[in-house]
Amino acid sequence: LRAADLFAELDHVTSPSGGRTGSAFDVLNPSTGELLATLPDMGIEETRVAIAAAHAAQALWAAKPAKDRSAILRRWHDLIVEHVDDLAAILTAEMGKPLGEAKGEVLHAASYVEWYAEEAKRVYGETFPAPANDRRMLVIKQPVGVVGTITPWNFPASMVARKISPALAAGCTVVLKPAEQTPLVAGAMVALAARAGFPAGVVNLIYAAEGAPIGRELCSNPMVRKISFTGSTEVGRLLMRQCSDQIKKVSLELGGNAPFIVFDDADIDEAVDGAIQAKFRNAGQTCVSANRIYVQSAVHDAFAEKFVARVRQLTVGDGFSAGVAIGPMIDAHAIEKIEAHIADALAKGAELRCGGKRIGTVGTFFEPTVLSGISHHMRVAQEETFGPIAPIIRFHDADQVVAEANDTIYGLAAYFYAENLKRVWHVAEALEYGMVGINTGRMSSEAAPFGGIKQSGIGREGSRHGLEDYLEMKYLCMGNI
Ligand code: ADP
Repeated sequence: LRAADLFAELDHVTSPSGGRTGSAFDVLNPSTGELLATLPDMGIEETRVAIAAAHAAQALWAAKPAKDRSAILRRWHDLIVEHVDDLAAILTAEMGKPLGEAKGEVLHAASYVEWYAEEAKRVYGETFPAPANDRRMLVIKQPVGVVGTITPWNFPASMVARKISPALAAGCTVVLKPAEQTPLVAGAMVALAARAGFPAGVVNLIYAAEGAPIGRELCSNPMVRKISFTGSTEVGRLLMRQCSDQIKKVSLELGGNAPFIVFDDADIDEAVDGAIQAKFRNAGQTCVSANRIYVQSAVHDAFAEKFVARVRQLTVGDGFSAGVAIGPMIDAHAIEKIEAHIADALAKGAELRCGGKRIGTVGTFFEPTVLSGISHHMRVAQEETFGPIAPIIRFHDADQVVAEANDTIYGLAAYFYAENLKRVWHVAEALEYGMVGINTGRMSSEAAPFGGIKQSGIGREGSRHGLEDYLEMKYLCMGNI
C-alpha cells in the first residue's frame, strides 16, 4: 500500500473534494517526531457533503440482499488480512506500538469484519402469538440509517472495524472520522473497503485536525441517525448532550478505571502474567488497562516482588525495533499526566519500586513503573492514567476490596484472580462492570460483547449484540385476518 496509491484510491470513498478548506495537518511518528504525511484538514462543509453521500447511498445499501452485503464485508476482511504487514507498519509508524502488537491489532480488526460478514445474514425478526385470533403480530429489524463514527488513536485499526463492520452488516451507511493522531491506518482500511466493492457513498471518511466541529455537524445534521464514539468520557458526555436535541441514538465506549484484584487463593504466577498483559499492553494506553492493582495481604509481597522483576525486563523503544514491548506515549500531554500521577502518589507516601522517569528527549518514551504503598484516594487510583504505571494497593478484606473497586464513576472492565469457586461467583456478580476477566488479563474478542456500564458507556461491540446496536425494531400488527 504505497501512500500515493492509497490517496488516489481514497478519492473514491472520501467525501468529494468540493469545498475543501485548503488547510492541512501533519501526522507525526511519536517515536521519532518524523513527519509521515500531511492530510487535508476537512471541516463542516466536507462533513455535510459526506453525510449527504451516505444518506443518498443508504436506501440502496439497505436494500441489497444480506448475502451480497456479507460477501463485500468478507472481501474487505480478506484484503485486510492480505495486507496485514502494510497496515501494521502504517499503524506502528503513526501510533508507536510494537510492530507485533500492531499486527495483532490488524488481525483482531479483521476478525470483527469477518464476524459481521457472517452476522449480516442473521438479522432475524420475530413473530409472537397475538392475544386475539383476528390478528398477527411480528417484529422486523431494519438498519438505523446513516451512522457517524468517531474513533480514538489507541486502537486505530480495530476501532474502525468494530464500529463500521456491524453498521455495514446491518445495512447502515457510515461517515468515519478517525483520530487526528492516527488517520493513516484508518485511511488505508477505507481504501481497502473501496477495493472490496462497497458502493460509492456507503463508507465516507473525514480527515480533520480537530474533532469538535465534525462532531457538532454529525450530531446536529438530521440525516445522521446515530453516533458511535470511542474515546474519553468527557467527549462522550458532550456528544450525548449534542445528540439530545434530536434524540439521536448513541453507542459510547468511554473511559475506565479497571481494578485488577489478586486474592490470597490466586495462582500468583498466573496473576503476575495477567497483570503484565492487562497493564502494559499498548503501553497502558487502553480503556481496559488495569489502572489499580489490589493484592491481598498474604500474597502481596510475593506478588509485588515477582511483578517488579517482570516489569524490569520490559524493553522500551521504537515499535519497529525487535524485542520492544513498550512503545512511546502518544504525545507530550500523556507524559505530563503520568508524571503528575506519580508525583501525587510519592508526595502522599507511595514507594517507587521501579521506573518513574521519561526516557531521552527524542520521542515520548516513559519507563514502565511500579508503585506500591498506594491508597485508594491517590490520583493514580482514582483517575485513568493511560500509561505504563502500575500502582499496587494492599488489601485485607475481600468485601472491602469489592466496595473499593466499585467506588468509581466508571464501569468498563475489571479483572480478578482467585481459585475458590464460591469466591469467583461471588466477586464476578458483585463487580459493577460491563466486563470481568477472571483469571485472565485479556478478554477482548469479536465473539463477545465489549462495553461498559455507568459512565463508561452505552452499547456493546462484538458478538450478535453488537449488530443489534445498529438495528431498529419495527412492530407490525396485521389486523382483520
Ligand atoms: P483522547 O483524549 O484519548 O484523545 P478524545 O475523546 O479526545 O480522547 O478523542 C477521541 C476522538 O474524539 C478523536 O477522534 C478526537 O478527534 C475526537 N474528538 C475530540 N474532541 C471532540 C469533540 N468535541 N467532538 C467530537 N469529537 C471529538
